[in-house]
Amino acid sequence: MDCPRKHEPLKEIELEGVLVDICPTCGGVWFDPNEMKISMKSMRTPGGNYWI
Ligand SMILES: [Zn+2]
Repeated sequence: MDCPRKHEPLKEIELEGVLVDICPTCGGVWFDPNEMKISMKSMRTPGGNYWI
């Protein structure tokens, strides 16, 4: 998966038991669709992206 903003490869890490893709360039954090369900409540942003 590439960053939707910079189109650079994301780095996959585990965060609090959930696998997320982080972008070292812009600092964005993206969840896979099935992972979104878990974290949607606490980290939703209007743009649809997920940030720490
Ligand atoms: Zn990025």
